[in-house]
Amino acid sequence: MIQMLRKMFEDSPEKSINVLSGKCSDCGCETIIEITPTSGGLGLQGGALFKCSPDKYIMKCPKCFKAGQHEKIWKERSLHNN
Ligand SMILES: [Zn+2]
Repeated sequence: MIQMLRKMFEDSPEKSINVLSGKCSDCGCETIIEITPTSGGLGLQGGALFKCSPDKYIMKCPKCFKAGQHEKIWKERSLHNN
């Protein structure tokens, strides 16, 4: 997961922000997640990513993410705001 995201930045080093858009896996609403490199790794804003296989992930909007706290989440520290 982290490796995949890092690769996105390696493939596009000129970008400081990568945006992933898709549908929330729970409610189906449009979800846009901004991924920014941080000193400690990568930061996410606008939603959450869940790893479901080594190179695939599902997205959740913030609302469903909060509702699904019982599920295994990607490290919470990756979700901090800048
Ligand atoms: Zn949702």
